[in-house]
Amino acid sequence: MTCLLACMVRRLALCAACLALSVPVLAGVRLEAPEKAARGDAFLALAVSDEPVERFVFLWRGKTFTARAEAPGETGGQKSASWRAVILLPVPLEEKAHSLELGVAAAVAGRRTNSVAPQALTRLALYDKARPVQKLTVDKKYVNPPASQQARIRKDREKVRQALAQFLPERCWTMPLARPVPGGISSLFGMKRVFNGQPRSVHRGLDMRGALGAPVQACADGQVALVDNLYFSGNVVYINHGEGVFSAYLHLSEAQVTPGERVRKGQIIGLVGATGRVTGPHLHLSLIVQGQSVDPQPLLAAECIPAVSSATSAHAGGLNQ
Ligand SMILES: [Zn+2]
Repeated sequence: MTCLLACMVRRLALCAACLALSVPVLAGVRLEAPEKAARGDAFLALAVSDEPVERFVFLWRGKTFTARAEAPGETGGQKSASWRAVILLPVPLEEKAHSLELGVAAAVAGRRTNSVAPQALTRLALYDKARPVQKLTVDKKYVNPPASQQARIRKDREKVRQALAQFLPERCWTMPLARPVPGGISSLFGMKRVFNGQPRSVHRGLDMRGALGAPVQACADGQVALVDNLYFSGNVVYINHGEGVFSAYLHLSEAQVTPGERVRKGQIIGLVGATGRVTGPHLHLSLIVQGQSVDPQPLLAAECIPAVSSATSAHAGGLNQ
């Protein structure tokens, strides 16, 4: 936690000037968040209370998101004298607002929090990143799937929906996220895709270069939520990192974990492949935060951490899903 907070402060350059006013319901509740965030990104927010708190409830885009409060001294390393929680929150690519308010309420043990009145508020300005168009050529069965595959595609979607509905009430993730493969980026999050001349949905992940069979590391500690073979995504592993954060690894040649298994940051969870809708071997990494796909790139470490098993090799691979 200490490391996470230090990292958060470094990354977001938080300062007193960034903080919004506090609404004094429970004395000493404070909220820290960046002044602006890009549509399609996730951002870190920090809630702090000088009085004992069980959890914090963040109010964002009309919904509530709960994060367990860590007690003073629990964070190790540096001593903290307050109760605090950090949370990842998404700004959807399609968000229309120019700015959005973020609120937080402290929940005390035994007290109901059904109607949450924020005790501290801040406002984030939203902006767009450049989202270029990418033209690709893939097997035509992935552009206009045959009628015989429609039922399977619907079933795939339901499996993913169910996996992402699992809630793990503990934060297993730490920032920055581990790079799953050492290769560079071949396709950005949010690019508008044109497959075989036909416009298709926006790219909701990050494509990373990797040779066929190169090991893929988990971004963070967590619990495996789904291992399957899906029509568009090929062989996949979904990991639940707790408190609404999931990562997904697509187009694998094979998965090396099983559903329900606990994994550690940097653990090899599968191998790079070219299964599903691809133009060649690569890793498609998705990050799903509070139900929204967001760009993993700003949260990834610059370098790979040493993997649990054999060394990784990678070179320029293909593109996308
Ligand atoms: Zn992709």
